[in-house]
Amino acid sequence: MKDTPEILYIVVPCYNEEEVLGETSSRLKAKMSALISEGRISDKSRVLFVDDGSKDKTWEIISGLNSSDKLFAGVKLSRNKGHQNALLAGLMTAREKADVTISMDADLQDDIDAIDKFLDKYDEGCEIVYGVRSSRAKDTAFKRGTANMFYNFMRLLGVDIINNHADYRLISRRALEALSEYKEVNIFLRGLVKQLGFKSDIVYYERNERFAGQSKYPLKKMLSFAFDGITSFSVKPIRMVTVVGFLVFLFSLGFIIYAIVQGILGNSQAGWSSLFCSIWFLSGIQIMAIGIVGEYIGKIYTEVKARPKYIIEKYINTEDTE
Ligand code: UDP
Ligand code: MG
Repeated sequence: MKDTPEILYIVVPCYNEEEVLGETSSRLKAKMSALISEGRISDKSRVLFVDDGSKDKTWEIISGLNSSDKLFAGVKLSRNKGHQNALLAGLMTAREKADVTISMDADLQDDIDAIDKFLDKYDEGCEIVYGVRSSRAKDTAFKRGTANMFYNFMRLLGVDIINNHADYRLISRRALEALSEYKEVNIFLRGLVKQLGFKSDIVYYERNERFAGQSKYPLKKMLSFAFDGITSFSVKPIRMVTVVGFLVFLFSLGFIIYAIVQGILGNSQAGWSSLFCSIWFLSGIQIMAIGIVGEYIGKIYTEVKARPKYIIEKYINTEDTE
């Protein structure tokens, strides 16, 4: 245990979460109050909600919570920028105030009681603690299947990523400082945080069902998330194209021999089959190669532009007002 209790910020990205915020905030308040009275964390600790451009009453609820209790702080993004950017916005806001942060979802799927274990690991000197789901029994079969596919595919591509770890994790201020050095625009925090290094550990927890409301990750967002993860961390796809190109080249050699033999035997219209097949195969390969090269060029483009990852419209209770 440290002499003066550490300041803990719990960062919760919220997108249209009006149905769950009441329950989430009261459970987090109970947990935080207990930790504060045990002297484990400072009374300057906060629950920091990040409103990711919600269209419902999310921001009103956050401001309401703040007026009734200074434990609750908020940040509002100017528009919906997606879970990863919202989370990053929250973490970077917390970085200036907190000794340690824990990020979690708003929907109470992440077990709040795991926070104690996170802090134990932090006291043992871990800079990063990953929350890992002990089972996915409560997820839908579809979610489970696609998630497994995603993790396996990522590993196949050589991306260093922790299985069944979402974004429930503890990050110390030091690790956050390091994270802030990554200037890239395409944010895939699970991969980035893993790249930071530092002493880290895993805490297992039971993943619950969403407390209320619908998943804010429709298939489209999930796919773009997976795609971002892959293209931000692996250049293997471009190598695969080279391999495919080589295989097609070998195939076409065999095909030329076949075509010549058929020509000699007088079984084909001269030139037709070779021409037909080469056009189709080469066009396919070319299009694929152009597509993938284009993907990387697209990435270079956005990196070079270095757009702001988020724009904060308002602050409450973060002392950065105006
Ligand atoms: N979220 C967000 N912006 C988005 C989509 C989601 O901030 O564009 C938040 C959401 O409010 C929740 C977390 O990200 O706190 C995880 O989303 P969700 O629970 O819907 O995902 P799932 O658990 O279904 O994968
Ligand atoms: Mg969820």
